[in-house]
Amino acid sequence: MEERELKELNDKIRDADLVLVGLGEELQYDWNALTQDQRYQEIEEEIGGREEYIWIVPFLQKMILKQLRQDKWRTAYKNLSNMIAGKNYFIVSLCMDDYVYDAGILENRIVTPCGGLRLMQCNRNCSHVLNSIPQGSYDAVLRYYNKELGLKDMQEPVCENCGDKLRFNQLGVNKYAEEGYLDCWNEYTKWLQGTVNKRLCILELGVGMEYPAIIRFPFEKIVFYNQKSFICRVHSTLYQLGEEIGDRGRGIKDNPVDFLCRLECT
Ligand SMILES: [Zn+2]
Repeated sequence: MEERELKELNDKIRDADLVLVGLGEELQYDWNALTQDQRYQEIEEEIGGREEYIWIVPFLQKMILKQLRQDKWRTAYKNLSNMIAGKNYFIVSLCMDDYVYDAGILENRIVTPCGGLRLMQCNRNCSHVLNSIPQGSYDAVLRYYNKELGLKDMQEPVCENCGDKLRFNQLGVNKYAEEGYLDCWNEYTKWLQGTVNKRLCILELGVGMEYPAIIRFPFEKIVFYNQKSFICRVHSTLYQLGEEIGDRGRGIKDNPVDFLCRLECT
C-alpha cells in the first residue's frame, strides 16, 4: 500500500459524516493458527473427528482465542478501532470469530449476520430462543484442556426444550437461528437510511463472493446512488471497482489483515 492511498483514506474518513465498514471472509481468523497451541493439537488428535466429541472444538476455539489475542488479528482490529473512533460508524462483519467484539468498538454499532461464539442455540432452533454458553460445559472443556478431566468425562450440552444438540449460534448449524442478529440488523438498516445524501466513507475489507448479497453488492449500490460517498475496497484478489464509480472509489490489492496492521498510528 502506498503512502498516498493511506493518506487519501484517512482524509476521506476524517471528512466523512458517516463511516460504513464491511468485514469479509479474508478477515476471518485462521483457525489453523491454533495448532501453534500444543495442547490444542493434542486434543484434535485425541478427538480424531469422532462425532460425539466434535462439539468440544468450538469451545476450545473460543477459549484459546481469549488467551492468545496477541496476534496480527488483534493488531488489525485495534487499528481499525482507532481509525474510526469518534466517527458515526456501523460495522457489518461476515466473520464468525468475534474478534470485532473485543476491539473497543461500540457493540451496538456491529452486526454479524453469520453469527459467532457468543451465544448458543438448539441445532434445529426448536423454540427460536438463544442460550448463553452453559458455564458447566465451558468449565469442563477448560478442565479437559488442563488435563484435569478426560475425554470420556465430556458431555455435550443439549437443548433443554427438545434434547437435540446445543450449538454455537453461527452458520453451519442444522437450522441457523437468525434471531441472534436480526435486532442488530434492523438497527443497521435504520442507520443506513440516515446515510442518504450524507458524506459517507465506506471501507470494505476482504469481502469476497461467498455472501455478496450481505455486503459487497449493497455497498456498490450505495456508492452508485450516493454521489457524496467514497468507497475503499481492500482485497487480495477481488479489489476491483466498477467504472461507474469513477473517482469515488479506490481498489487496493492487499490482504486486509496486513493492510490494517500497516495503519499503525497514522
Ligand atoms: Zn431444541
